[in-house]
Amino acid sequence: MTRKRLVVVGGGMAGLAAAWTARRHPAAAAGGLDVLLLESGPQVGGKAQSVEADGWLVESGPSGFLAGRPELTQLIADAGLADDAVPANANAKRRFVYRAGKLREIVPNPVGFARAGILSPRGLLRLLAEPFLPARREGTEETVWEFTARRLGAEVADRLIMPMTLGIHAGDAKRLSLPAAFPRMAALEREYGGLIRGLSAKRGNTSAGGLTSFRGGMQTLPRALAARGGFQVRCGARVTRIERTGTQWIVTAADDAAPIACDALVLATEPWAAAPLLQALAPDAAAALDGIYGPPVAVVALGYAAEVSRTVPRGFGVLITRDEGYRMLGNLWDSHIFPARSPDGHLLMRVMLGGAVDPGVGVMSEHAVIALARDEVARMYGITASPSFVHAVQWPRAIAQYELGHLARVERIERAAARLDGLFIGGSGLHGVAFADAAASGVRCGTQAAEYLRR
Ligand SMILES: Cc1cc2nc3c(=O)[nH]c(=O)nc-3n(C[C@H](O)[C@H](O)[C@H](O)COP(=O)(O)OP(=O)(O)OC[C@H]3O[C@@H](n4cnc5c(N)ncnc54)[C@H](O)[C@@H]3O)c2cc1C
Repeated sequence: MTRKRLVVVGGGMAGLAAAWTARRHPAAAAGGLDVLLLESGPQVGGKAQSVEADGWLVESGPSGFLAGRPELTQLIADAGLADDAVPANANAKRRFVYRAGKLREIVPNPVGFARAGILSPRGLLRLLAEPFLPARREGTEETVWEFTARRLGAEVADRLIMPMTLGIHAGDAKRLSLPAAFPRMAALEREYGGLIRGLSAKRGNTSAGGLTSFRGGMQTLPRALAARGGFQVRCGARVTRIERTGTQWIVTAADDAAPIACDALVLATEPWAAAPLLQALAPDAAAALDGIYGPPVAVVALGYAAEVSRTVPRGFGVLITRDEGYRMLGNLWDSHIFPARSPDGHLLMRVMLGGAVDPGVGVMSEHAVIALARDEVARMYGITASPSFVHAVQWPRAIAQYELGHLARVERIERAAARLDGLFIGGSGLHGVAFADAAASGVRCGTQAAEYLRR
């Protein structure tokens, strides 16, 4: 048997998981498999970039992941990082919403919402009526807002679900598709007739673990996979063209190296980056990939001295409803979430700006986003001191939006990809936007590619 070659395009969590998995798959061992990963940026990790400077540890993207997803747990163990994983501090379970001029703690039960002033008495009654509402068994695809307003009332949709959707997807609940963005919520109505009934039935029976990161931040895993994977990694290699000739793929990158021939190809880029590569081969898939919107997000990290640390409650962070006169979507209180994020006693917080509700942030200068974040933080917490540490990251297209029609779009993409022998498409743009979803998607593509190469 001759040695085979697999090329993986994209060095985020999905691409690295694909390369790692294919390289270790028993099917690949038979004749030998060389794996080459091409990443356009200067380093691996994609959105997971962790920056260390002067005792501060700043995440440019994901803060953590929910432990318990088997594919990710396995990758962490195989990469030798089980002891580097750190669970979030106990007080990171405390989450806040800013409404009617105040930070209000989200105690996750209906009475807690009303006590905290998040819901009015009328909103609370509407929420409590949810178990008595009939389940909708069919009908047109609903947005996240439509579904939650129908089941839980417009107040819950506006005051909790809108900010939560911005917090998770940087997305607009009035545009995202419920079955695509929150499939488990859709399943609760389908399987149990309602959300409250479904949640009570499932209590104590969920597989989702706690929020987790690594001592050195989220980029620890991508870095370890790249270093210990036994595959070649080329950064600064933006793939500009893929072609099919006979039984091989030819991959051309913009880094002056010669085109590379391979037997199978995994595309693990953002969907909009995969679109132009597929334009000539599968125009239908290219159009569907290009139709997935990615809004800009700016992440501004601000580090404050010990005195300021006390002005912010111990907890995970705050989400802000849109009618409060703030542009920021929310803040994460990083020093309260994981250990060793800031010098002793200091406070590191990250301010999130932009998303689908405020795309104008994408054209602001770094100076302007920092000034905006500093002003709004000063106003919200009454902080007069200047931050002693500032770091900003601007993602022009941050997180794929699973808008209405997303599931149909994914079907079109996958149907077209299935017609292209030896090509596999993955990444967080299709079946889940979280870090663990990206890892699972990469594992799936790596397995499929290895099995294809055995044939
Ligand atoms: C601000 C922010 C906060 C987040 N917070 C969380 C969180 O708390 N928890 C969580 O679970 N998830 C979070 N996420 C989502 C999480 O970061 C992603 O799910 C995950 O990192 C995506 O991995 P990926 O491999 O699918 O894509 P990416 O990380 O986007 O990787 C794609 C890679 O492909 C490369 N690429 C693109 N085009 C080409 C080309 N032509 N040639 C070569 N390479 C190319 C890109 O440079 C990039 O490195 C957050 C995301 C952002 C932006």
